[in-house]
Amino acid sequence: MLEQKVTLEPEEMPKKWYNILADLPEPLPPPLDPETKEPVKPEKLELIFPRELIRQEMARERYIRIPEEVRDAYFQIGRPTPLYRARRLERYLGTPARIYYKREDVSFAGSHKPNTAVAQAYYNLREGVERLATETGAGQWGTALSLAGALFGIDVTVFMVAVSYHQKPYRRVMMELYGAQVVPSPSELTEYGRKLRAENPGHPGSLGIAISEAIEMAVRHENTKYSLGSVLNHVLLHQTIVGQEVLLQLEKLDVTPDVMIGCVGGGSNFAGFAYPMLGRKLRGEQDDVRFIGVEPAACPTLTKGEYRYDYGDTAGMTPLLKMYTLGHEFVPSPIHAGGLRYHGDAPSLCLLYHRGYIEAVAYEQTSTFEAGRIFAKTEGVIPAPETCHAVRAAIDIALKCKRKDEELTIVFNFSGHGLLDLQGYRDYMEGRLGQGA
Ligand SMILES: *Cc1c(COP(=O)(O)O)cnc(C)c1O
Repeated sequence: MLEQKVTLEPEEMPKKWYNILADLPEPLPPPLDPETKEPVKPEKLELIFPRELIRQEMARERYIRIPEEVRDAYFQIGRPTPLYRARRLERYLGTPARIYYKREDVSFAGSHKPNTAVAQAYYNLREGVERLATETGAGQWGTALSLAGALFGIDVTVFMVAVSYHQKPYRRVMMELYGAQVVPSPSELTEYGRKLRAENPGHPGSLGIAISEAIEMAVRHENTKYSLGSVLNHVLLHQTIVGQEVLLQLEKLDVTPDVMIGCVGGGSNFAGFAYPMLGRKLRGEQDDVRFIGVEPAACPTLTKGEYRYDYGDTAGMTPLLKMYTLGHEFVPSPIHAGGLRYHGDAPSLCLLYHRGYIEAVAYEQTSTFEAGRIFAKTEGVIPAPETCHAVRAAIDIALKCKRKDEELTIVFNFSGHGLLDLQGYRDYMEGRLGQGA
């Protein structure tokens, strides 16, 4: 019984976030000011972020205390989350491997994203911010921030990539139920949006453009700040609640993982899940664990990108970050895993990948949906198209274990459910899905 589903008591929920910057093998290359190309001055970031999040962005201490209000919100929305053993999947595959998955889909928003959204809303509120502006692609981040805005009483404006705004109406409904203002991007609310719409009234939009619009809104309005759902150090930091819970749960089982897997869009769920264990490895307390990030072949940032400084958005308003990038003007094909369609990745993850601490693989769209279907049929949970990438990698390793008769323990992060992505599954089952590469 206990082996099938490992839960934690509310009191066991971690009281601190883990900051990998304390343990990196070398200092992280600093973000650069887009105008001077010098390291960004923290004061300049105060235009768009509250001071405490800027402090966390640059912090070097290994642990940062989670405020009581944020722990309360974590508890409210479903933390601690369970760790499951995928026994039925193992049996279906006929593998000697043991497969575990961490259920981040059980939050109200259906993904890991509220872990940082509630923390960001809390710190903004505490510093007198009245409105948060943000971008969303497929809608998961917008949903998470809208939920956090509702819980803490902060207004939220979401710039939603125009194609998704029209193709994914239910995500928009969720955000609006939480009280957020949702506008298709490019929009008429910003100068950048108006310029793009003048050139092309039917502009489909992109994540990079929506980020530019949200930043412009934060810069131009009093008491409005910008909020980002991935990539930045403080976002990854907040997500480490996930990996710390996993360590506790594996300890209860007396299990040490051989492989830890997560899908990578901007890197936040992978990092949050893997960094607490990876930190042990960096400190020499743990060896022989492999860490694998999984990305779409249509947006192969780690596997095909270049390691260099690049902008986080299309307009070039953000600081330059040293990361693996496909170029800030790269527009990936419209795969269903919208959350993985980002041209860059978190700088710490890129550094660790560059130094060989993390591996990466890329999969084509159809093979990930096949994995999602197998998982739904065996385990009963329907993975988000993003999560299907992690499921695919876990299945492939488990099948390799079968060929080699190897009893590895595989743990992966189940970043979200796919209940609002059924169109993708439908296209897959009707054979209408592209490879997406
Ligand atoms: C947004 C999202 C991702 C990708 O973002 P990361 O920052 O790389 O974690 C993955 N899975 C789900 C379910 C998402 O909503």
